[in-house]
Amino acid sequence: MATPATAAAPPCPSPNPLSLLPRCSTLRELKQIQAFTIKTHLQNDPSVLTKLINFCTENPSSSSMAHAHQLFDDIPEPDIVMFNSMARGYSRSNTPLQAISLFVDVLCCGLLPDDYTFPSLIKACSGAKALEEGKQLHCFAVKVGLNDNIYVRPTLVNMYTECKDVDAARLVFDKIVEPCVVSYNAIITANAKISRPNEALSLFRELQGRNLKPTDVTLLSVLSCCALLGALDLGKWIHEYVKKYGFHKYVKVNTALVDMYAKCGSLKDAVSIFENMAVKDTQAWSAMIMAYATHGQGHQAMSLFEEMRRAQVKPDNITFLGLLYACSHTGLVEEGFKYFSYMSEEHRIIPGIKHYGCMVDLLGRAGYLDRAYKFIDELPIEPTPILWRTLLSSCSSHGNIELGKKVIGRIFELDDSHGGDYVILSNLLARAGKWEDVDYLRKMMKDRGVVKIPGCSSIEVNNVVHEFFSGDGVNSVSTDLHRALDELVKELKIAGYVPDTSLVVHPDMEDDDKEITLRYHSEKLAIAFGLLNTTPGTTIRVVKNLRVCGDCHSAAKLISLIFDREIILRDVQRFHHFKDGKCSCGDFW
Ligand code: ZN
Ligand code: ZN
Repeated sequence: MATPATAAAPPCPSPNPLSLLPRCSTLRELKQIQAFTIKTHLQNDPSVLTKLINFCTENPSSSSMAHAHQLFDDIPEPDIVMFNSMARGYSRSNTPLQAISLFVDVLCCGLLPDDYTFPSLIKACSGAKALEEGKQLHCFAVKVGLNDNIYVRPTLVNMYTECKDVDAARLVFDKIVEPCVVSYNAIITANAKISRPNEALSLFRELQGRNLKPTDVTLLSVLSCCALLGALDLGKWIHEYVKKYGFHKYVKVNTALVDMYAKCGSLKDAVSIFENMAVKDTQAWSAMIMAYATHGQGHQAMSLFEEMRRAQVKPDNITFLGLLYACSHTGLVEEGFKYFSYMSEEHRIIPGIKHYGCMVDLLGRAGYLDRAYKFIDELPIEPTPILWRTLLSSCSSHGNIELGKKVIGRIFELDDSHGGDYVILSNLLARAGKWEDVDYLRKMMKDRGVVKIPGCSSIEVNNVVHEFFSGDGVNSVSTDLHRALDELVKELKIAGYVPDTSLVVHPDMEDDDKEITLRYHSEKLAIAFGLLNTTPGTTIRVVKNLRVCGDCHSAAKLISLIFDREIILRDVQRFHHFKDGKCSCGDFW
């Protein structure tokens, strides 16, 4: 008698191969289990395949994702659950957009997305910064009615954020009825990243109003906003919060506190946080080195670096940026070059544009202008306008018109739309009385439609950040402030202040008008506001978006003496601590 062609499978005495999965840790072991499923005739069982795919997508390396893809391709009729697993794996892999191309394939096979499909696909777009694909998925989610899903909206907010379309992120966020902390984190971080600190902070207040508990991610973003605004009181409040809820065990949060205190002008608090950190990683050391550097304490920065070396923490490119910055702001040319070569020779760190910028600044500030020009000219990379601009500032502070003109020529070859460049050169020319050249430059600016960035200074009083713009004339300033400014200038003049009208580039303007222009500089407005609205003896902290001008710098020195106030002014370059008529920068900025 012939043996029947389809004999019944023998009863399986072995254990179910899938019971081995929890103990499996490598792809090789998984393949052994897979072989076992073939032996036990389970290789086509959908639930077995799903579990094998899930294993691969849990740890999405390129080889495990390739294996998962192969398994998936072998399934005659995959379901959406299997696809979701693939999409989740790809969204966390190095090739996130593969999720999208696989999605297109399964759509052609007639599969329909469910609640879990879009979050992974949108996350894949975030990872790949693929705004166009993200938008298409958003449309598709609307079309199938899944855009309001509680998992879809937060991932959309995140995707628009990652793709730098913060306005779209905000639109989606505003439609979430009950936003969770994850959605808040996404939108707060988005605003912090594009330097909209006030918006980020008001979202943070909203989050608290809803009784949601911030996470370390929220606090990192909010602290960076305080740092950006120089909002010390709010920063201190967050610090209390950090302590109360145990966030001080996060190294990153502590590092953000060091950075916040340093940028808000309280170096003492930054040092105290740093010294009390149980664990200090490279970022923490770098933040403290940078803090010393921006506060003009170059030698402290260097000795901290020695300590870091003794602690055997590996420096990175940010650590060296801090050191170079420290050298340039303390005038330590030789030390700067020593660190510059040490960085590339010992640590194999390729200098970036910011490192080169520090070197140009280092040479320029110390007066080695021709050497700085040569340095830029011989760089192994294409110089950016910012590098030349740094040199232009040095030409201006050292009064070198010839080189200044040559440098601006190099800047204009690359970019002629930056208002600040025209202003620096005009100031340089004006101080030398070269009015014809000044006129020519102003005409050039007008013809090219270049606008000047207005100076803006901010001061935090009673937890509110007040902003003042240069040229906020008589009309936009309150009567009280207007009066306070007049009084201030009067007292300054008695103490010997002479307004430096050469800084006002208007040849036809009368000297009196030039004086008025100087009086309404944003930093003077902010300081006067601080004198008016804080109790005697309180430190006045001002943040300015551009470099402080020479006239405001001399005025601030005198104010600190006459009114016995410490004034801490952070400009775009560094900190100025004014006390007893002197500035910590030693008039070197
Ligand atoms: Zn000024
Ligand atoms: Zn100064």
